[in-house]
Amino acid sequence: MAQKQCQCPFTYSKGTRCDGIIQQARVYGRVQTDGLTTQQNVRKYRLWCSKGWDHAGAVASQESKRRMEFYPNDLPPGLEDALWTGGLVV
Ligand SMILES: [Zn+2]
Repeated sequence: MAQKQCQCPFTYSKGTRCDGIIQQARVYGRVQTDGLTTQQNVRKYRLWCSKGWDHAGAVASQESKRRMEFYPNDLPPGLEDALWTGGLVV
């Protein structure tokens, strides 16, 4: 089965959505004894995309950092599951 592609949820200041594809995701949350965080324990996701990578050039660095960080509830429907099933969580 082809890997499902996840569209980048970053929105430019003009309001246009980035058309890049998520390449990598890092999760922040409670870490288990094996050093991993499960989907249920994720507090926040940090994403990198094929087009802007971390979109650091688009806005001031501190702001851009926050703009590529998403709470699970802020992600577009289905994206969270796709990150995990697509093996994008590192
Ligand atoms: Zn992007």
